[in-house]
Amino acid sequence: MEYPRHSYWHDTAESIKNKTTKNVDLKNKKFDILIIGAGITGLTTAYLLKDCGFNIGVIEATNSGYGVTGYTTAKITIQHDLIYDNLINNFSLEEAKQYLKANEEGIKLIKKIINENNIQCDYKEQTAYVYAPSMDEVDDLKKELKAYEKLGIDGFYTDTVPLPNKAYGAIGVKAQGQFNPLKYLYNLYNILIDSNCQIYENVRALNITPHDEHVDVETERGTIHADKVIAASHYPFDNSFGLYFLRLYQEKAYVIAARTNEQPFEGMYININDPVHSMRYQFSDKEALLILAGGNHRSGEKDDENESYNELERFLKSSFKNPEIVSKWSTQDCMTYDKIPFIGRYTDSIDNLYVATGFKKWGMSHSAASALILKNKILCIEDDYSGVFNPSRFTPVQSSKEFVSSVKSIALGFLNRLAADLEGFSDVKPGEGKIVEYDGKKVGVYKNEAGEYFCINPVCSHLKCALSFNEAEKSWDCPCHGSRFDIKGNILEGPAVLPIDKIKIKMP
Ligand SMILES: Cc1cc2nc3c(=O)[nH]c(=O)nc-3n(C[C@H](O)[C@H](O)[C@H](O)COP(=O)(O)OP(=O)(O)OC[C@H]3O[C@@H](n4cnc5c(N)ncnc54)[C@H](O)[C@@H]3O)c2cc1C
Repeated sequence: MEYPRHSYWHDTAESIKNKTTKNVDLKNKKFDILIIGAGITGLTTAYLLKDCGFNIGVIEATNSGYGVTGYTTAKITIQHDLIYDNLINNFSLEEAKQYLKANEEGIKLIKKIINENNIQCDYKEQTAYVYAPSMDEVDDLKKELKAYEKLGIDGFYTDTVPLPNKAYGAIGVKAQGQFNPLKYLYNLYNILIDSNCQIYENVRALNITPHDEHVDVETERGTIHADKVIAASHYPFDNSFGLYFLRLYQEKAYVIAARTNEQPFEGMYININDPVHSMRYQFSDKEALLILAGGNHRSGEKDDENESYNELERFLKSSFKNPEIVSKWSTQDCMTYDKIPFIGRYTDSIDNLYVATGFKKWGMSHSAASALILKNKILCIEDDYSGVFNPSRFTPVQSSKEFVSSVKSIALGFLNRLAADLEGFSDVKPGEGKIVEYDGKKVGVYKNEAGEYFCINPVCSHLKCALSFNEAEKSWDCPCHGSRFDIKGNILEGPAVLPIDKIKIKMP
């Protein structure tokens, strides 16, 4: 059965969004602050800065809400898997406190924005739980609980969780939250438009050039000048500074929204270790839907992405009686090797360029924390929580294990350029994509159900890694940095800013 590729959030929120400016010439436009990306990070930051007297512009490569924010599971919590014991041991108590405080402040900000503007986004206070599906993992929970005590987090241990699958224990944190992320985002969008903030959709930033007093951002519709620029584009796409392409990787996960026949449980749950199963119900005035996520893997590394959906469906069907799948979708988030996001100045050597990325699937609280941190940086206000997120930090010890595995993946992406899986056109089945050799060159070929071929140069336009075909999403994906292209070579997701070349071939 084919499921729609858009998410449940798009289905339920799209009608809220007001129209935007179209096809405007942006040549020589000037802003005090230009924000690149209209996801939750970009728009929350614009929301905070709009009241400080700045003339703000936002450019968005596609449409607001079509980045990760439109495909998330939208738990708003400071409980980010098991993080605090790791932070205390591998960083310091002080840095763990900063991480916690930033996320607490972020959650307060989200609640404040909802209350101040009476935003109807199905916000619900919830207890967040991380649970152990096996006895072996209970000790890890207890260590994390000790870390909570050191940090003053009001957490608790419980042996009983109301999940249909077996759990041997869980730690909970009360007064966390959940919402419909796009109802929230599109309300922010409308508020910004009404406050004269200029949001331009379908405008991709291609290049960033910082100068002493301002920054130039080249776009498809002309070069914009701004005193300060914030890259809220999820993956920082410009490779000229900051070396983000070496310091970030993307991890993919899959989500199913389903009607179940059980009484919906309260609380938001995630287990320790793989396979990850994150669960919560989404309550609206119409119904309660289970939102189940999992199947995590590094982007571009799975041979058959359908298997991730299948694993999730198997889990769903074995845990709930006759569930009805409403929609399913996948998305990917940026991960840092030391597990702490990059929020602040893009690099130490450039004063007027900022970044917020690497939220490692905990971007609801982190995006709001980013908005606060970036506002403070721009207004030169000291705070006591941004230090740990400094994008210029150097943490080789905390980063090493994952970094080595990443270098292997990137190397493989580059090496695959030399060792493609060569097959003839006739071997490509309908609905399949393959690398074939044609006229001495490697060509990425997709054949649709009607038998038409779509050929592209299977090399990523970002940093020239070899692309591989993603059967589940019918896209060409980059294993190095997570860029994705459709079967015609158009960009689905950055960091790439250019499409890949189409290849014209006389078909066999
Ligand atoms: C499966 C999954 C589940 C998750 N669940 C949770 C959860 O329960 N709780 C939680 O806290 N977090 C969760 N996250 C993480 C969270 O969804 C993300 O971290 C967050 O949405 C990122 O928001 P963003 O605004 O930074 O990025 P995005 O929403 O991706 O926005 C960035 C925008 O920038 C635009 N852009 C990109 N390049 C350019 C360019 N060159 N020019 C102009 N615009 C550009 C994009 O089109 C996009 O719209 C989850 C992530 C995944 C993958």
